Amino acid sequence: MDFFNKLGKKVSETYDATTEKTAKFAKEAKLRMKINEDKSDINDLYKQIGKKVYQKHLAEEEIDISKDLEEELTKIDVLSAEIETSLKTILELKNRKKCPKCNSEIDRDSVFCPVCGEKQLEEVKEVEVIEKEITNTEVESEENHKTETDFEEKTEEFKDVEESDEDK
Ligand SMILES: [Zn+2]
Repeated sequence: MDFFNKLGKKVSETYDATTEKTAKFAKEAKLRMKINEDKSDINDLYKQIGKKVYQKHLAEEEIDISKDLEEELTKIDVLSAEIETSLKTILELKNRKKCPKCNSEIDRDSVFCPVCGEKQLEEVKEVEVIEKEITNTEVESEENHKTETDFEEKTEEFKDVEESDEDK
């Protein structure tokens, strides 16, 4: 009986881990597809820009980048930001991140970047805050304990006085 229970538990644990992995793979595949679509949209916009520039050349007109190409350029900005976000999400799925200083791909919980040595501030700050809170709580309980001890000592002194009074 025990053996089968244990076996059943192990199988379901493995199943959970596999399901999670499969979900992550599916998510990553979706993101990579989106990145490819965004890249292809950006290439289409490059073509549109090129065509506009050539038409201006044929008409022997000057091109005003911010006026004539604003729509295309804004779209490229938006698509590029989308690609950045997708790449960041893929890294997070793998529990990885980019070092803000040297841009190397590193473990998300690294305290220092193994490539350039940069201290990874954000994650460290959170841990430090939690540690400070724990230390503060410990100090408080110690102070409470001191007060209790003082009270006990004072009570003892008072008892001594009572006893000496009785002696007389
Ligand atoms: Zn680095």
